[in-house]
Amino acid sequence: MMLNRQGRPSTPSQAADSAAAGTITGNRGLLQEEALIFEIGEEGRTGVDLPDAPKVKDRLGGLRRTGRIGLPGLSEPQVIRHFVRLSQRNYSIDAGLYPLGSCTMKHNPRLNEKMARLPGLGDLHPLQPVSTVQGALKLIDTLAGWLKKLTGMPAVAMSPAAGAHGELCGLMAIRAALKARGDVRKRILAPESAHGTNPATAAMCGYVVDPIPATAEGRVDLEALRVKLGPDVAAIMLTNPNTCGLFEREIRQVADLIHGVGGFFYCDGANFNAIVGKVRPGDLGIDAMHINLHKTFSTPHGGGGPGAGPVVLSEALKDFMPVPYVVHGKDGFALVEHDGARSFGRMKSFHGQMGMFIRALAYMMSHGADGLRRVAEDSVLSANYVMASLKDIMTPSFPGPCMHEALFDDRFLKETGVTTLDFAKAMIDEGYHPMTVYFPLVVHGAMLIEPTESESKDSLDTFIGTLRGLAEKALQGDQAPWFRGAPYLTPRRRLDETRAARAPILRWKPGTNAAPAARAAAE
Ligand SMILES: *Cc1c(COP(=O)(O)O)cnc(C)c1O
Repeated sequence: MMLNRQGRPSTPSQAADSAAAGTITGNRGLLQEEALIFEIGEEGRTGVDLPDAPKVKDRLGGLRRTGRIGLPGLSEPQVIRHFVRLSQRNYSIDAGLYPLGSCTMKHNPRLNEKMARLPGLGDLHPLQPVSTVQGALKLIDTLAGWLKKLTGMPAVAMSPAAGAHGELCGLMAIRAALKARGDVRKRILAPESAHGTNPATAAMCGYVVDPIPATAEGRVDLEALRVKLGPDVAAIMLTNPNTCGLFEREIRQVADLIHGVGGFFYCDGANFNAIVGKVRPGDLGIDAMHINLHKTFSTPHGGGGPGAGPVVLSEALKDFMPVPYVVHGKDGFALVEHDGARSFGRMKSFHGQMGMFIRALAYMMSHGADGLRRVAEDSVLSANYVMASLKDIMTPSFPGPCMHEALFDDRFLKETGVTTLDFAKAMIDEGYHPMTVYFPLVVHGAMLIEPTESESKDSLDTFIGTLRGLAEKALQGDQAPWFRGAPYLTPRRRLDETRAARAPILRWKPGTNAAPAARAAAE
């Protein structure tokens, strides 16, 4: 039997056959059941040998517990196996290609990890006196310098902890700038090709979100934009490259139009990977843009953090940026914690995600200016290779070339009864994390593939071969029932996604054993 890169059978049907026949295959380990730690633990068993507690009277001021607290007792090997098995069920960029569009799941070089763990950096405390953290402040300042240089912008707010947090920071700076000139504006324009966090952030900031339709080409419709402009527009939030994987070619006109009515230009720069070293946002008339260090500059992400979303700011906005920020004075580096009346305040208790700053700077310095340019070129090349290799069998939503992600829709599945979701689920059996599905919303049954520059040609070819194989299978006709059943090789099959979102069971309670019921529901 052929095994793919991930050591799994080369087609799901072969795997299903061999699983049925009881053949030992590379996937068997993944089919192991793993009980909850509370279900395998036993009271009285332990993995540590603690000395008897010293006899002190009422040490906890009357708060002493006497009843059992019901923690599971496990030996050290049991604990290790439990967590290693769980970790093996997880899919990660370290396990294989992770084509999740708009997420830039690229390789995280281990050098970055080594730097972040240096004791002088890893053991810092945010409340240390500044005289003892000069090196760390220098590091933040150096990283800020790189970000300003790469974007051609005069200032950067380092503290936002994620892309969406950066958007909030940018809008708060814009609101502060408007307020400073005695201007209150209500509307934010958000093109349909923008990321979903953009309208969400604008709404969270109290603005009315006004959508701008996309053209048939997947870009902002300038005519529609002109119609929406007015003196009550605070800003436009544009994503570039946009979520269709396309560069907004008329971005300079967008900047002129929004500035013409006294509004600000926010650009979502989470997709900076595609243009780093090639285009400077400052040259495009942008006033504020967040950069996801956890995407472009390769700090690990997923599962909710930690991220870092510094925001570069134009001359018009730089005075309003949040505190604290690092300055370089005659006595070395210092932190500005209070900044008169102009700064809008604080985004976060401290200075930002130091661990991410270290990783991002290590990544930048090890790549250098030429290396970062190559990142953009190769990420765009990879996505175009995927698109060109599949365009005869799948349906690209827009004529190429694309930027760093290739967008397909479900037109090629039309006659087959197979849906985008079925297609994505079938990829799991092939050893891949699915691409982003049903996003962006402007395309029907969207499949957004971002291969990134860190995949080799061999790896891309294997991936392309897998998608081609699945597309061919779908197009055979009468395969819809098989696709609807996928994935077949995972510990859980299809989840009830509505119930999982609306009524998740997040906590084990003593005396309940949710596993059989959950299993029955999943099967
Ligand atoms: C990832 C992403 C965001 C949000 O970033 P978070 O760090 O997840 O908050 C915003 N816009 C675009 C285009 C993105 O790809």
